[in-house]
Amino acid sequence: MIPFNKPYLTGKETKYIEEAVATGKISGNGVFTQKCQKFFEEKYGFKKALLTTSCTDALEMCAILADINSRDEVIVPSYTFVSSALAFVRQNAHIVFADSYPDNPNIDADKIENLITEKTKAIVVVHYAGIACDMEKILEIAQKHNLIIIEDAAQAIDSFYTFRDGTKKALGSIGHLGAFSFHETKNIIAGEGGMLTINDEKFINRAEIIWEKGTNRSMFFRGEINKYGWVDTGSSFLPSEIISAFLWAQLENIDSIQEKRLAIWNRYFEGLKDNKNFSLPQIPDYATNNAHMFFIICKDLNCRTELIKKLKENEILAVFHYLSLHKSEFYAEKHSNGELANSDHFEDCLLRLPLYFELNETEQQKIIDIINKF
Ligand SMILES: *Cc1c(COP(=O)(O)O)cnc(C)c1O
Repeated sequence: MIPFNKPYLTGKETKYIEEAVATGKISGNGVFTQKCQKFFEEKYGFKKALLTTSCTDALEMCAILADINSRDEVIVPSYTFVSSALAFVRQNAHIVFADSYPDNPNIDADKIENLITEKTKAIVVVHYAGIACDMEKILEIAQKHNLIIIEDAAQAIDSFYTFRDGTKKALGSIGHLGAFSFHETKNIIAGEGGMLTINDEKFINRAEIIWEKGTNRSMFFRGEINKYGWVDTGSSFLPSEIISAFLWAQLENIDSIQEKRLAIWNRYFEGLKDNKNFSLPQIPDYATNNAHMFFIICKDLNCRTELIKKLKENEILAVFHYLSLHKSEFYAEKHSNGELANSDHFEDCLLRLPLYFELNETEQQKIIDIINKF
């Protein structure tokens, strides 16, 4: 069986976990956590990075930092994972769902402005498959209406956006706040894990407090104050050193992991690009590709269902992705802005192919051949 995903281990994960255990400090914010955070800040230009126990947690921190409350509306794409909306629903916001482009699952930047009211406080952008949204356009809209931009960069590690003046910035470093995932299905993994990135300095102090159960413990450990106490809301958002040690083993190999994934992605693209029955991912000029995912768009639901079946008969697991959130059991009745046809189209027609470090060329050729014969 060729699985859809297989978590890749670099071989050093358990060694670093043993080291973490041997230090006697295995709770959060220790040596490995700080090493990982520093690595991300230096490599990708985040003003501040804080590891979290998941991307969902990092998004919840974003919702708290943005002071989201029951009077607020938050714009979120419908074609995304539940957490992109849930984190804001927990702060009692009303979610205004936005549609995708016809040929790209990302939020359609040209349709955002119509959704803005005087209640809108934030826009959540999701860089689907690690491919950037049109950030320059979205930043202009946000500045004009004084909105906070939160990047759900769960899938977007090591991916970039190029501005019209040529400046290139890492995804997750562009909005006020960003959230990454190290879930085992992502490029860089820790089992469960995530990261909050903060690019607007005014949020940094409060983020550290929210991260540490509403206390100013981080300041205490830096020797900035002589006792710590309860000063704000928060939760236990930080991971243990065991998780951070695992993550460090992955980060040491991030370049080779990315190179390998990109080679696999490119082989799919070359092998399928002449097939007129499907369309392939579009990478806009402003975006890079971090090879998080390879998907094809089938012409309709029936075609996709048949192809999934065909691949399964050949022991290959290919899977569809999100169900439009605006039609979900939890939100359909609260949804207020009509049909989102492009999101529904990706719900029915998008199919993800196996993509993991250890997928070999023979296996991949078999997948490509079956799709081309279909
Ligand atoms: C994976 C993912 C999440 C959730 O990440 P967790 O670390 O599992 O909480 C959120 N948003 C998107 C777009 C994702 O792909």
